[in-house]
Amino acid sequence: MAEPPQPAVPGPAPARVRSGIPRNPGRRDLGMRATLLFPDREIVERFYVPLVYTACRTCYSELEPAEIFRRAVDGEVDVAKMQRLISGVIESGHGSTIEHIVFTFGISGVSRTLSHQLVRHRAGVAFDQQSQRYVAFKGPATMLPGTIADAEPGLRERYEEQVAGSLALYGDLLAAGIPGEDARFVFPNATRTNLVMTANLRALIHMAGLRLCTMAQWEIRRLFQLIRHEVFAVSPFLGSFLAPKCVPLGYCDEMGNRDGHCPIRPHRDAVLGAWAEKSRTANDAGRSLPVVDGG
Ligand SMILES: Cc1cc2nc3c(=O)[nH]c(=O)nc-3n(C[C@H](O)[C@H](O)[C@H](O)COP(=O)(O)OP(=O)(O)OC[C@H]3O[C@@H](n4cnc5c(N)ncnc54)[C@H](O)[C@@H]3O)c2cc1C
Repeated sequence: MAEPPQPAVPGPAPARVRSGIPRNPGRRDLGMRATLLFPDREIVERFYVPLVYTACRTCYSELEPAEIFRRAVDGEVDVAKMQRLISGVIESGHGSTIEHIVFTFGISGVSRTLSHQLVRHRAGVAFDQQSQRYVAFKGPATMLPGTIADAEPGLRERYEEQVAGSLALYGDLLAAGIPGEDARFVFPNATRTNLVMTANLRALIHMAGLRLCTMAQWEIRRLFQLIRHEVFAVSPFLGSFLAPKCVPLGYCDEMGNRDGHCPIRPHRDAVLGAWAEKSRTANDAGRSLPVVDGG
């Protein structure tokens, strides 16, 4: 009788590959820009905080919104008091109050790789993007990722040839009378594009929470660093709410960071593990802590 197949003897477990933080392009000039088109500092200082304050106060006041707003704009309400109320409301997650103020950015020189990610945001945000149908590009520009810029020269050359070849073919197709809407099919993801984006503050905080996270792709992360910088320039108070989502949360909820390689906040598993340990110690000492189910 033939021997039944033996189960394979398990070898040593393969070393765990640590997921790395996407390399931050640092000060490398990527040629992208984010410019706050509206509002300017004067409008933000004069109206934005009073507007959000009015939305918050209306919920708890007998006064009419118009009177609350007038008092706030006329300086009858201490700015620090307004900011305290707004911070408390944002931290409590009462987000509708910050949907009343919007920020409009001109975004230029980003790749189509980035714009495809950006326009996935739907709630509280509007986009207009340079058309590849209506613009016949004379010299389409492209983005060169830092890793490829730093790669061994032969590889970088092949990348550049490939991109240049696509763009040359695009020009030839246009010259042969092929419409731009079809010629653009040869564009690589690296092709640069321009957009106008308007987001209310709630949406902007949400987007920044996801895109400033070290798990986000480097280019969109850099874009949100620029966006944060722009908001900061007109209002350090409002700009301070644009942060990786783990900052207000207090812990990291990204599955890809279970190994804790990103140190900004401890991973949820580590927090729950520490709590379970604390609970066990308390039980052993005859005390009990509330049970937290980490499952
Ligand atoms: C690190 C990272 C990796 C990603 N990887 C991928 C990927 O591999 N593949 C992929 O396809 N996408 C990927 N995405 C995109 C992601 O899945 C979302 O589509 C994108 O981040 C938009 O965010 P949002 O869903 O919160 O939408 P937003 O429009 O920004 O919505 C804001 C919030 O409003 C609520 N909301 C909005 N619309 C609805 C709705 N219709 N119903 C109920 N509630 C709603 C939700 O609470 C939502 O969080 C990735 C995003 C990140 C940050």
